[in-house]
Amino acid sequence: MFNLLKNKINSFINSFSKKTEEKASEQETKEEGKKLEVKLSLGSKVKSIFKQDVVIDERDINEMLNELELSLLEADVAYEVATHITAELRKKLIGMKVEKKELDKAIKGVIKNSLLEILERDKPDLLALAKEKKKAKQPFVIMFIGPNGAGKTTSIAKIVNLLQSNGLSCIIAIADTWRAASQEQGQEWAHRLGIKAIGAQYGADPASVGWDAVAHAKAKGIDAVLIDTAGRQETSKNLMRELEKINRVIKPDMKIYVGESLGGNAVVEQVKEFDRFIGVDGVILTKADVDSKGGTAFSIYKATGKPIIYIGIGQETKDLREFDPEAIVDAVLT
Ligand code: GDP
Repeated sequence: MFNLLKNKINSFINSFSKKTEEKASEQETKEEGKKLEVKLSLGSKVKSIFKQDVVIDERDINEMLNELELSLLEADVAYEVATHITAELRKKLIGMKVEKKELDKAIKGVIKNSLLEILERDKPDLLALAKEKKKAKQPFVIMFIGPNGAGKTTSIAKIVNLLQSNGLSCIIAIADTWRAASQEQGQEWAHRLGIKAIGAQYGADPASVGWDAVAHAKAKGIDAVLIDTAGRQETSKNLMRELEKINRVIKPDMKIYVGESLGGNAVVEQVKEFDRFIGVDGVILTKADVDSKGGTAFSIYKATGKPIIYIGIGQETKDLREFDPEAIVDAVLT
């Protein structure tokens, strides 16, 4: 997972410490000479005033930071995010005084903090919100949006599994009436999960499917309604109109964009687009298990301001993890 980003950052850290160590050795050699002169002139009482500290200056890091910027772009980090990261590092590293033997650790610490600053943001607590609605005897309604094939239906199954294991009952609305396969796939998941799915014929109004599912949940005291919507690879005006209508009619408690970790800038642009049309409360980033690059999460945070709530790490219902910035940063640093 995220090997490319990990390799790029680690190779930056390595060349950075190597270069700075070389500089420190040069300084030491010069200072040894000076120390000897001082000792000779002041006698043996003189304490060493020259520690093995390295002060990082701009010339040492400019070239390396430029290289790091290119590496980040290669690892799917959006341009504005890559330049932000390198500008932050430049600010924090220049003038920094580090003990030579702590160099590696210190640089890693600075990079870790810069990456964490990007990812740390309040995210909605889906479970807590669902439980609050249950107390109020109202179904918690989540609308899932995003392109086809990103893992929407699988993520819905994963969220159902999560809600069920927290004592909440669920129903699925298959509001994708555009693809016949979606109806079959939704019904199959519902069957596996032991829950009901409300579907419709090809071409039916998706908003009415959602409406029926919410009505069913209210009538039967079901705690959560998960609405699967249609997606196209490219976001079209018609699709946005369709989603806007579902949003207007159902007024879901939460709208979650489901996108692939491998999607890079395309995902970032789509989150912005969907947010403009219907509003996005959070993101599920799927297929992190097969993403060798790793930059998308950082780009989503910095470029869209939307929190990632969960990541998908496989095809089974158990393969969902809460998005944990610390774990993600550790995954790209160690
Ligand atoms: P939808 O068209 O957006 O509803 O996408 P699907 O839920 O049908 O998923 C498309 C494909 O991606 C399926 O083969 C899923 O098994 C797979 N998939 C979904 N989430 C993940 C994930 O987190 N990791 C991996 N490796 N595959 C996933």
